[in-house]
Order: sequence, then C-alpha cells, then structure tokens
Amino acid sequence: MTPDKYIKNYINGALIPSDSGEYLENINPALGTVYSYLPDSGPADINIAVEAAERAFLIWSKMGIDKRFRILSRIADIIEQNSDAFAQAETIDTGKPISMAKTVDIPRSHQNIRFFATSILHHSSETHNVENEAINYTLRQPLGVVGCIAPWNLPLDLFTWKIAPALATGNCVIAKPSELSPMTAYLLSKACIEAGLPEGVLNIIHGTGSSAGKAIVAHPKITALSFTGSIKSGKEIAQLAAPTLKKLSLELGGKNPNIIFADCDFDQMMIQTLRSSYSNNGQLCLSGSRIFIERPIYDKFKDELIKRTQFLKIGDPFAPITDLGALISKAHMEKVLSYIALAEMEGGRILCGGEPIKMKGELEGGYFMRPAIVEGLKHDSRTNQEEIFGPLVTITPFDTEEEVLFYANSTEHGLSASIWTKDISKANRIANQIEAGMIWINAWNLQDRRTPYGGLKSSGIGRGGGVEALRFFTEAKNICVKY
Ligand code: NAD
Repeated sequence: MTPDKYIKNYINGALIPSDSGEYLENINPALGTVYSYLPDSGPADINIAVEAAERAFLIWSKMGIDKRFRILSRIADIIEQNSDAFAQAETIDTGKPISMAKTVDIPRSHQNIRFFATSILHHSSETHNVENEAINYTLRQPLGVVGCIAPWNLPLDLFTWKIAPALATGNCVIAKPSELSPMTAYLLSKACIEAGLPEGVLNIIHGTGSSAGKAIVAHPKITALSFTGSIKSGKEIAQLAAPTLKKLSLELGGKNPNIIFADCDFDQMMIQTLRSSYSNNGQLCLSGSRIFIERPIYDKFKDELIKRTQFLKIGDPFAPITDLGALISKAHMEKVLSYIALAEMEGGRILCGGEPIKMKGELEGGYFMRPAIVEGLKHDSRTNQEEIFGPLVTITPFDTEEEVLFYANSTEHGLSASIWTKDISKANRIANQIEAGMIWINAWNLQDRRTPYGGLKSSGIGRGGGVEALRFFTEAKNICVKY
C-alpha cells in the first residue's frame, strides 16, 4: 500500500485523473514543501461518479447484509494490515505526531468501518400495534446516492466515520476528503479495490470545497449529505443544498468550555486538561479551548499549566518524543498567530508561547508554533467567542456555578464540555444546563461509537454515532396492515 506522487480519483472502481487533468499541490506542513499532487476535480467528475453510483446502487442495496458485512470487514482488515503506511501518510499530510497517527487516527479508522459493518447484522426496525385492528411495521431503506465531505484534522478517522454507516446501510457514496489531507483517502481507494468492493459503490473525488465540494452539495441526484467542517462552510452548504431538499447532517466547529471546580482530582484534571488543550496542536473540534477555574485553585492551576505547556516537545512529527508537530498549513498558522495579536489587543496577557518557531535543518520551512495560554480576557471577547482551532487556550477564574454557566453558554457554539469536580450532584446539575451536545464529567474525549455524536446551536445539525448514523442514512417507510 504505497502513496503515489500523483493521487487519482476513485470512480466506478478505477483510479483515474480528473476530467480537466488539472492538479493541486499537496504540501507537507512539517517541511513546508510540495510532496505530491491531487486531482483538481469539479462538476464533470462528480457527474460521472454519480452515474456510476446510481448503477452500483441497484446491486449494493440488494446485496445481503452478510455480503456487505464481509466486504466492509475486508476493507477494515486491509487498513489494519497496512497501519504503518496509513499512519505515515497521515503524518506527512497533516504534520501530526506519528505516535498519534498510529494510536488514534488509523486504529479509529478501521474500527469505524468494523463497527458499522457489524452493526447492520444486529439492526432491527420497529412495529406498532393498532389494537385488534392493524399492525404497522417500519422499513429502514437506504437513501440512494449520498455525499460525505470531511475535514483535515482527523482525515481518515472522520472520513470513515461517515462513509462506513452510509455503505453499511446499502447506500452508494460520493466522498471528498479535504484538499489539505488527501493521501489516506487515496490509500483507502486502493484498499477498496483490493477488498473487492463492487465498482461505483464508493467514489472518492479529490479537490477543493469551492469546486468538487460544491458540486457534491448541489447535485440533484445526491439525496443526503454528511458534512464535517467549519461553521462558515456549514452555513454555505445549508444554503446550497436547500433547492435540492437534501437531508443534511452537519458536524461543525466548537469553542468548548472546560469547567474546573476546586474540589476536583487535581492530578487527573491536569493530565486531561493538557490533552484537551493541545492534542493535535489544538486542531480538534472537541478541544477545551476556554478553561474556567474556580478561584481558590486558579493560581495553582495557572502555574501548573504553564509549567506543563512549556515542557511539551515541539518538532519533527516522526520523532517518537514529539508532543506537537506542525500546524496544517501556513495560512492556518497565520490565522492562529493573528489571534495572539488579537488577544493582546483585547487586553489579554500571554502567559507563555504564541510565537512561530523556526526549526533547524529540513524542518526550517515547517509551520510550527509554541502553544499559548492567555489570561485576563472577558468572556465575550472575540478570542473567547471564535473558534481558533490551534494551540491557544484562555484561562478565566470564576466564583459561582451561575457565573461559570453564563460564561460557558455565552458563545454560538454548543459542541462539547468537560466538568471537573468530585461532587457528582454539582456535576450533573451543571451538565444539565450546559448548552452542548456532548459532556464529559471528570474526563475529556472519552468516546464510545454507540453514543449520539454532534453539537447544539451553531455546532451542527443532526447526530452521528451508533443508531443515529444508521437512521440518518436510511429512510423510514411505514407499512400499515389491517387484519
Ligand atoms: P472546512 O469547512 O474549511 O472544510 C471541510 C471540508 O469541506 C473540506 O473537505 C473542504 O474542501 C470542504 N468544503 C469547504 N467549503 C465547502 C463548500 N462550500 N461546499 C462543499 N464543501 C466544502 O473545514 P476544515 O478547515 O477542513 O476543518 C476544520 C473545521 O472542522 C473546524 O471548524 C472544526 O471544528 C470542524 N470539525 C468539526 C468536527 C465535528 O465533529 N463537529 C470534527 C472535526 C472538525
């Protein structure tokens, strides 16, 4: 399973260039240099893929679930057998530490496929009895050709998180990875060919959001779209999809509060808070980027977080000791750095970090920065309201539950939250009032594929995960039988 210099689209079972023959540059962010090229696809490529998917749907949707399960399981096995190649490709594309690609991104990807492949073997639909008169039974049928569009921060993990339930339930898929991280999706195409996935069932099209992405969203024959990305793109997509009345699942950005009470298990909280602040360089929708600390432990927490942040190893993503690799792109690093300047303008104090790092040797052109902590900002400052998606957290003291709830709920986001306290009543009281779709008590990012996954407010529409995903990718058809 080798990456190629020229990535190809996977359409109708074959690896082919885009219709235009044009390519985009794929940059290794740790080096700041072009290392491969991806097809710059557009509406013509999407049209060919949709035609192939429509033909394939007639076979795939009628194939028995045992056969679908076996083919999908084979794809998962091939990814697992080639974990090293997939992890290397993920690290080169994104600049994330190889340790993370090996222990998080790639295992989660084959586990996603296996999870949904097996789930169809156990899925059942409902019946409703009309007493002494009739019985209703509800069929759950695949939608047809569906679209899946994924971001760059967990490329193969989030790609498979969407594609797997869509395929498992009998749909055919037109999928697009981010133009910033296309390589593992390309390797997935090769895995699908090796596994014997029938042609046209999954079509992977590369290119930008403004060309290939929009063509997926606007296509009248694509009946549903599962999208993960920014709130800005989500809003554009909702508008563009409206005339075709597509079913939409939008998993969007977060600005998640981390609420720390003085009675928490301090050591556990510190370990997890460091993770929630800087895992994947803070480029996670679930990052705990606003940290609220009860005043009696504010100074202790601040000193400890600074100490641990300064101890993090930043550098070569392939070095085993690296904690933080490169950010995804030059433009993104400049965006994150612009928030450091903004935080200062808004009256914040930069307690550590916030500067770009010029590495030595071949990493000289890479996009590295020191992780930053900012204090002294108002809850409604732009730095505290807008998703930055980088290694930058704000810390703010609070005195009462009412006050911290007000701060926590003050943004347009509602993705996730963490609460740290040994008082379980208090934890549940707060969890009940936080406007977020996913809440952890004394934990962060502890995931279970069976639970509903998604956000409130501007953080999204709909839920992924377990039964929710199977429901999203199927249409309920009720049949009423009178007797
Ligand atoms: P993005 O919105 O720029 O792009 C995401 C994907 O959508 C890419 O494949 C892109 O090419 C495509 N795209 C962009 N505009 C489009 C359009 N108008 N029509 C169709 N496709 C379009 O996001 P990103 O920068 O790649 O990812 C970071 C964002 O994703 C952050 O906001 C982050 O919070 C969010 N995210 C959310 C979750 C979640 O589960 N809620 C998970 C990961 C990332």
